[in-house]
Amino acid sequence: MSTAEQIIAAHRLVYVGCDCGWQWDADRDGYHRIEDLHAAHVVAALEAAGKAVVELPEAIDEDGQKVWLPAMSEVIAGVEPGRAYVASTIGRGEYDAAKLRELGLVLLAAARVAEGGDQP
Ligand SMILES: [Zn+2]
Repeated sequence: MSTAEQIIAAHRLVYVGCDCGWQWDADRDGYHRIEDLHAAHVVAALEAAGKAVVELPEAIDEDGQKVWLPAMSEVIAGVEPGRAYVASTIGRGEYDAAKLRELGLVLLAAARVAEGGDQP
């Protein structure tokens, strides 16, 4: 399995295409900028390899804590100096794909801040 860095390195923009053989096509792509089309091509290559390119949700700043309150989930994640936590009002709940995705993004965002990363 390739790393994200290896995948990105294999897709270098060259003239009207990509190192991998992907090419801009006037009939398919119209007047879109090649740089934008190539960026979408690279994201698609990452996703095809099982990598996720996601936008992490922003936290609410609450008395020195960062708190995520997912709209669709019954779970709260938070980070305060020295600890991170998750609180849930459910035991075992039924989650559809949208709820699972939202919950996953909240946990990833909380982990990033807990590791000392910046708030997205
Ligand atoms: Zn490519």
